[in-house]
Amino acid sequence: MADKFDVIVIGAGPGGYVAAIRAAQLGLKTACVEKWVNKEGKTVHGGTCLNVGCIPSKSLLETSHKFVEARDEYGDLGINVSDVSMDIEKMMARKDKVVSQLTGGISGLFKANGVTSIEGTGRLLKDRKVEVTGHDGESQTYEAENVVIATGSVPVDIPPAPMTEDLIVDSSGALEFQEVPKRLGVIGAGVIGLELGSVWRRLGSEVTMLEALDTFLPVVDEQISKETYKQLTKQGLNIRLGARVTGSEVRDNEVVVKYTDSDGEQEQTFDKLIVCVGRRPYTENLLGDGTGVELDERGFIQVDDVCQTKAPGVYAIGDVVRGPMLAHKGSEEGVMVADIIHGEKAEMNYEAIPSVIYTAPEVAWVGRSEQQAKKDGFDVKTGVFPFSASGRAMANNATEGMVKVVTDASTDRVLGVHIIGQHAGELIAEAVIAMEFGSSAEDLALTCFAHPTLSEAVHEAALAVDGHAIHMANRKKKR
Ligand code: FAD
Ligand code: NAD
Repeated sequence: MADKFDVIVIGAGPGGYVAAIRAAQLGLKTACVEKWVNKEGKTVHGGTCLNVGCIPSKSLLETSHKFVEARDEYGDLGINVSDVSMDIEKMMARKDKVVSQLTGGISGLFKANGVTSIEGTGRLLKDRKVEVTGHDGESQTYEAENVVIATGSVPVDIPPAPMTEDLIVDSSGALEFQEVPKRLGVIGAGVIGLELGSVWRRLGSEVTMLEALDTFLPVVDEQISKETYKQLTKQGLNIRLGARVTGSEVRDNEVVVKYTDSDGEQEQTFDKLIVCVGRRPYTENLLGDGTGVELDERGFIQVDDVCQTKAPGVYAIGDVVRGPMLAHKGSEEGVMVADIIHGEKAEMNYEAIPSVIYTAPEVAWVGRSEQQAKKDGFDVKTGVFPFSASGRAMANNATEGMVKVVTDASTDRVLGVHIIGQHAGELIAEAVIAMEFGSSAEDLALTCFAHPTLSEAVHEAALAVDGHAIHMANRKKKR
């Protein structure tokens, strides 16, 4: 038997690496097991988020957005540029550099905080023993007082569109295209589809998105999702709702996709096809006999409110457990679990987890949509402020979108905030803090916001709940 640890974390994504660093900071003897190997054959930390998720996708989104701004919008600002063109190889090289800087950064943080890094595939055995099989096939077993499972998630496959080497790909493949596909098909108009569809649309692809549901972005407040649909279709994303993919075939380096929609049976040919229809928890070969850890019917590890599994001393966090599959949600769970292991009382407010879709304009929200709040039985009051009435948005040449504040009419408590607009992903932090502190719309309305900023739109939307937005003709509302 090898070393004994206070905490062994399995998986070094944003859930696991944060849990490991926090545990080590609290003085616990901590190890983190990671199996991810990069193109150069080196074990890398950071999981999906840093290697093939949040970070590379945002790098490509930012570059492609800057390209479109320079090509289509600089002229409006009086900046004359000609021959704007893209160097895809350079864009990809920069993305890869950002990824390797950040994954290397986590390894550095492990060293600095005294986290023992164990390379290989971890398997939980009975009584909190962890067997690790190294990349050379050799196994070693470690003991721990506590184990944190943070093994993340992988893309869902669908039988009508099985992956191929490079024509039918998942999100990871779509981050690696070496040239702009002329005709790009995307199955699933969810978060990944919209973000990666936007990247390649901006760079010149004709993008068709096939979405099974009849409703666009049903998790988003209806008013905001309608505006998002309008903005993104205006940019050329061809979003087909109610489209059921029935089959696909690779012919002469092209992909022929068959689907049915309200117009009947359809067939369309693409140069590349991205399948992004959701992700599923990853627990392959993870649990040995008698661990006591249980899975639910969808394959998630079953945990309570504080991420404790059915086995004492074994916790699970991040994408492998219930809740939104978001990096920051996993990281916060990691902190909570490390604190609990250290003997502190810790909890998480699952009602105040922000979501952001990094399209242009960005879409961001926290808390309940108007429709959800009504479903939950609240008497709802809302305030909406359009960016077209914001001085800063005008100065920025970014007047699309709005801020919407949803409140409980009887207490004025903020139940949710929904934004579509430039920097919505940054603006939403104000709303998260407000909700975390149990703010009313009046609290926000009585707060002083700097001028001229986009965040004044949050202020104005809070004022609009009572019909008192300053820079807008208000609906008549009684005080
Ligand atoms: P993961 O990041 O999946 O990490 C799990 C780690 O565990 C991996 O490194 C894996 O190799 C390792 N592992 C698994 N099994 C074992 C084992 N048995 N032994 C050892 N190691 C193991 N979220 C956001 O919040 N914002 C975004 O902008 C965003 N963009 C995204 C874009 C894309 C294209 C994708 C695919 C996802 C995106 N996400 C985003 C989601 C985000 O990446 C995940 O929610 C997040 O990475 C989950 O963190 P995690 O630590 O639970 O799991
Ligand atoms: P998603 O759940 O956001 O969207 C999947 C979409 O595919 C849905 O609209 C669904 O109705 C549709 N779909 C499912 N089966 C289909 C089928 N057979 N044919 C056509 N459409 C079908 O999932 P995703 O976009 O794959 O993203 C996975 C996860 O990654 C999400 O949960 C998200 O939280 C996370 N993520 C987050 C960000 C971010 O925070 N900005 C970015 C990317 C991914």
